[in-house]
Amino acid sequence: MLELSHISHAYAKKTALHDINLSLAAGERLAIIGPSGCGKSTLLRIIAGLEPEHTGSVIYRGRDITQVPTHLRGIGLIFQDHALFPHMTVAANIGYGLYGQPRATIAARVDAMAQMFGIGDLLDRRPDQLSGGERQRVALARSIAPSPGLLLFDEPFASLDRTLRDRFLAELPPLLQHAGVTSIYVTHDPVDACLIADTLAVMEGGRLLRHAPPAQVFRDPQTRLVARLLGMRDILPAHPAYAALAQPSPAATHLHIHPQAGVDARQHPHSLLTVTVRALTLRPPWPQVQVAVADDVPPFSYDWPFGEPPPIGSSVTVAVRHDCVAWLRDD
Ligand code: ADP
Ligand code: MG
Repeated sequence: MLELSHISHAYAKKTALHDINLSLAAGERLAIIGPSGCGKSTLLRIIAGLEPEHTGSVIYRGRDITQVPTHLRGIGLIFQDHALFPHMTVAANIGYGLYGQPRATIAARVDAMAQMFGIGDLLDRRPDQLSGGERQRVALARSIAPSPGLLLFDEPFASLDRTLRDRFLAELPPLLQHAGVTSIYVTHDPVDACLIADTLAVMEGGRLLRHAPPAQVFRDPQTRLVARLLGMRDILPAHPAYAALAQPSPAATHLHIHPQAGVDARQHPHSLLTVTVRALTLRPPWPQVQVAVADDVPPFSYDWPFGEPPPIGSSVTVAVRHDCVAWLRDD
C-alpha cells in the first residue's frame, strides 16, 4: 500500500537520507529504529508530504503522490508533543479532522473513538485537565478519527515512563488493527519496536540497513553495525576457541552470544564451551558471570540461573544455545 523508491534528501547540502527503498503491505505495522539524527523523522515527513524537495518517489495505494500536498494525502502524523488544541474540549479535539462533515456524523465518530480509547468520561474536559497518559489517548483518538489509511508515529511515547509506555504499546496494535490502519512507528528503543511491529527497519546515517520481521532481525542481525544498533553488547572478534559454535561462513568476523544462552540450553540445540570466569555481578534475579574462551580475548556475559556461580578464575564448561549466537560480518 506504500512504496518508497530511491528516496534521498539533503538539508542545505548535508545528506539526511540516502537512497531509501521500502514497501509496506496494507495493515502492516512497521517500526523504524535508529539513533538520533539518522533520518527517521525526515523519512516520515517525506511520506506525509512535509518535505517536498526530496528525490525519489512515494507510491501510496497504487498512485504516485510525490507531488500531492500534505492535506490531500490522507496520511496522519503523530508527534511526541501531541499538540492538542488547548482551547478546545476533548470532543472538539477528536472531531477536528472531520471538519465539514455533518454534525451528527462527527458526533457519532467522536463517540466511537471515545469508546475505543476508553475516554468517554473526558469529552467535556480541556487538555490542561488531563494527565499525560490521557492526553496521549486523546491525541491517538484524534488522529484515527478521520480514518487515515496510514498513520505515522514519530516517537509518540518517548516522554512517558516505561510502565505507561508498555501499556500503550500493548494496547495500540489491536486498536490499529480494529481501525484497519497501516502504520509506521519510529523509535530509538528496540524493545518498543518489538512490542509494536510486525516488521522492523533499522536505519543509520540516512541509510536503511535491514528490513525484516523483528524476531528475524534480532536472531540474525548479520552485521556488527546492526547488532550494535539493536543494543547488543559483547560483540566478540571471531577466535578459533568458538569453533564449536559453527561459524557459518568466513565472512563472519565477529559474533554475539546472548547472556541467556545457557537458559534451558539442554532443551535446545547447543554447544559446549570451556571458559574462564573473569568477573561476577548480580543481574537480578540471577547472578551473571563474565567469561572468556581464552586469555587474550574479550569476555562475554552469561546469566547463571543455576545456583551458586563458579568462583572468579575458575574454568567451567558452559552450554550455549545455538539460537542465542549471532555471527556477524563487518559493516
Ligand atoms: P531522527 O529523527 O532520526 O533523529 P532527523 O530526520 O530529524 O533524524 O534528522 C536527520 C538529519 O538531518 C540530522 O543530521 C539532522 O540534524 C538533520 N536535519 C533535520 N531537520 C533539519 C532541518 N530542518 N534543517 C537542517 N538539518 C536538519
Ligand atoms: Mg526524530
